[in-house]
Amino acid sequence: MSELKPKRKKPRGVATLIEGTCIGCGARCQSACPANCIEMTDSGEPIIESSKCIGCLKCVKICPATALEMYFTPEEQKLLAELAKESGGAVEEELDEEAERIKKMLAVYRGVWVVIEQYDGVTAKVSWELLGAGTDLAKTLGVQLSAVIIGDTVGHLCSEAFEHGADRAIILDAPVYKNYRTQPYSDAICYLIGKHKPEVILMGATAQGRDLAGAVATVVKTGLTADCTGLGIDDKRNLMQTRPAFGGNIMATIMCDKYRPQMATVRPHVMQMPEFKPGRKGDVIREAFAPLEEKVLVKILEIINDRDGKDQVDVAAAEIIVSGGRGLMNKDNFALLQELADELGGVVGASRSAVDAGWISHSRQVGQTGKTVRPKIYIACGISGAIQHMVGMQDSDVIIAINRDPEAPIFQVATYGVVGDLFQIIPAFIKRIRELKSKNSCCEPCREAA
Ligand SMILES: Cc1cc2nc3c(=O)[nH]c(=O)nc-3n(C[C@H](O)[C@H](O)[C@H](O)COP(=O)(O)OP(=O)(O)OC[C@H]3O[C@@H](n4cnc5c(N)ncnc54)[C@H](O)[C@@H]3O)c2cc1C
Ligand code: SF4
Ligand code: SF4
Repeated sequence: MSELKPKRKKPRGVATLIEGTCIGCGARCQSACPANCIEMTDSGEPIIESSKCIGCLKCVKICPATALEMYFTPEEQKLLAELAKESGGAVEEELDEEAERIKKMLAVYRGVWVVIEQYDGVTAKVSWELLGAGTDLAKTLGVQLSAVIIGDTVGHLCSEAFEHGADRAIILDAPVYKNYRTQPYSDAICYLIGKHKPEVILMGATAQGRDLAGAVATVVKTGLTADCTGLGIDDKRNLMQTRPAFGGNIMATIMCDKYRPQMATVRPHVMQMPEFKPGRKGDVIREAFAPLEEKVLVKILEIINDRDGKDQVDVAAAEIIVSGGRGLMNKDNFALLQELADELGGVVGASRSAVDAGWISHSRQVGQTGKTVRPKIYIACGISGAIQHMVGMQDSDVIIAINRDPEAPIFQVATYGVVGDLFQIIPAFIKRIRELKSKNSCCEPCREAA
């Protein structure tokens, strides 16, 4: 009779920090530890109480800087080596059930979706921009890019979506979706997620997109990163969502590695418009899901279009923006910027300081809490270049900064910088533009028109 080999337990070790490698990511290791054995120092590095560590590896796995490793005593190392040599199942293998469950769940979710925002059958430009960003993500992941279209009589948007890069359009077309309301739209997206299981969902960071994304993420219990300025994919198929954090002082990259789908909103003009490919085709999937109108609590009585208001300028859509900051000194001096903008065929924008001072309306504010712009030319006049302003305009094609302080941060992103008094420089600009215009005019009537 053969003697049964005693089952030897594989040592788990204890977590330890590799000196000098912690990047102070915000205590992810501490949040992951089920044994409460990690304390953080003032500089954001972990101190691990090894007597409490159960060697679950959770902190090691979550650390984005590979700054943690497992420590084994010499005896444990010896045992590990012996166990590695042995075969025949005598080793009690670690089985992290939670990790297995997550791995299985993640494998089910595939595909990148862009939720197309439309009003009366006309698409918000940001949706097409997101199809551009979505194309790159789908390519990296090796999956299809789908446009999710919800509305009433919106079938024509499928071909537009294909022409902007979508491989597939999933469409819900019914009268209940005529005007945006949170409940039916959110129910619709949640239904589609349950059925098709996408791994990434992108929406515009517009009033509608922010409302819808938040409602959906809450119901399907997943993570949502708002106002992303950059998107990428890591080697584990996680969506790397970059956005300004802590008042815009740092750029944070956020990941949702344990839940699906990964959801993000992106502001208009942050992503580049994709190449338009006329006649490009794709697959159309028509879904029948439609909540009953009587079950929808919110009713739309009247739509008041605020574009009919007095300030009709859409700074975000302008190709040339002349922006003014605190250096303008007062409201009346904005007339000078308007004069320059008129000469260039542009519009006037502003920093938050100018808006807060009541010199110009909030609709003209550029920056983190204003509009994100990507014009061909951005002229910053008397604007210092705070990070919160720059995140809203730094992707402009050409940036011209006028500031009397040569150390002003705005010069760091400027294509051309003019150090001097804006009250001398702007009139000189206007004069020169007028001279050039009149020189380029072929005859007297043209010169008069110019
Ligand atoms: C949470 C949060 C969100 C924010 N969101 C935004 C946002 O969306 N947009 C935004 O703009 N800011 C935002 N801010 C504010 C931001 O931090 C700055 O305070 C603001 O951008 C500064 O505006 P400014 O450059 O006009 O004023 P200042 O920083 O006071 O700069 C004025 C500049 O004018 C120059 N100047 C003065 N006189 C002249 C002259 N005669 N000729 C030439 N140059 C002159 C000065 O050298 C100076 O550089 C936010 C702040 C916070 C905390
Ligand atoms: S290995 Fe597990 S128990 Fe030990 S410190 Fe890391 S998370 Fe905590
Ligand atoms: S998870 Fe890694 S990088 Fe983040 S605080 Fe802990 S050790 Fe440092």
